[in-house]
Amino acid sequence: MANASKRLQDIPASGTVAISNLVSQLKANGVDIISFSMGEPDFVTPSNIVNSCIESLRDGFTHYTSSLGIPELRVAVANKSVTQNRIPCTEKNVLITPCKQAIFMTALAYLDPGDEVILSDPSWVSYEACIRLAGAKPVYIPTKFEEDFVIDPSLLEAAITPKTKMIILNTPSNPTGGVLPVQTIKAIAEIAIKNDIMVMSDEIYESIIYEGKHLSIASLPGMFERTITISGLSKTYAMTGWRLGWAIAPEIDIKNINKLQTHSISCCVSFTQPAAVEAINGPQKEKDDMVREFKKRRDLALDLISEIKGLECNVPKGAFYLFPKYNVSMSSEELATQLLEKAHVAVTPGSAFGPCGEGFFRISYATSEEQIREGLDRLRFFMNGL
Ligand code: GLU
Repeated sequence: MANASKRLQDIPASGTVAISNLVSQLKANGVDIISFSMGEPDFVTPSNIVNSCIESLRDGFTHYTSSLGIPELRVAVANKSVTQNRIPCTEKNVLITPCKQAIFMTALAYLDPGDEVILSDPSWVSYEACIRLAGAKPVYIPTKFEEDFVIDPSLLEAAITPKTKMIILNTPSNPTGGVLPVQTIKAIAEIAIKNDIMVMSDEIYESIIYEGKHLSIASLPGMFERTITISGLSKTYAMTGWRLGWAIAPEIDIKNINKLQTHSISCCVSFTQPAAVEAINGPQKEKDDMVREFKKRRDLALDLISEIKGLECNVPKGAFYLFPKYNVSMSSEELATQLLEKAHVAVTPGSAFGPCGEGFFRISYATSEEQIREGLDRLRFFMNGL
């Protein structure tokens, strides 16, 4: 068999997806696993969205669409982004594409070998892989548990070199659930403008915020022209399996990224796109109910974790992740492995998210109250035994 490309050789598979694959395999073998691993809502997609998709299939809407996405969806995304996010865009600034694909294509479209990309440590697992696959270098800015993992703009500024091409932001954050304060986002915007650096802003958890409000960096003066905003439907409407999202950027950037889309997936699945219009423009009650339910689960999980010896956790303001710190001398990889093998509870080791994630693990609480109680009970028992 041929060797994998040099580009790929030292890139690990996604830590989050690898654990989720392992959990599926264990479950298929009859092992009773409580999974806090994958970041995906356990709810089903609201029925108005599903029905719209079925209708499209029945109507024969089963062919390629424009690589940019159907016009109605580009308009719906643009309108939503103007009214809710205050991003000064029109449909011409929208490319319909899966969120992860948008991140991957943005890296390929803008990074050259030698370029540096600044990102927060810890950060979601695939940013580093996308940066490195494009030949560029990730430059991590350490953040602290005691400071709610909020990036310090002065550290960010100090990390800038003539090679810095891009800053990646992700608020609310995966894996910490942290929401960047408005002042921090404004300070980062000023630094980006002053140093002429582009920003890739991953806002996939924008609707799952319990305290405070979401701020899109592209809405700030002078930022639209240097920002690729990426978001989608997966988390907001429990549509992870639909693989549907978007990138919002100046037309020239949409043109560049779309070039990669035409050479890779061609377009998003056709019959899901009218359903995405329904998701954005249709009734929002089920979405609001889901967010309320996530908050209840967060509070429950935090309560239960506070009773576990050896764990400390701060209160995340968004997404559906907890990122507890543990006080046992063991790597997070080892802890996650033992927890899975001995207690049948799946979590993601903190080290998967960058060096500052060591000593932590990620819990996705987007699962039922019953599973949260049972899983955290097993976790308590496991921690007591260490
Ligand atoms: N973003 C989710 C997670 O971190 C889904 C898996 C992935 O895309 O990495 O679990």
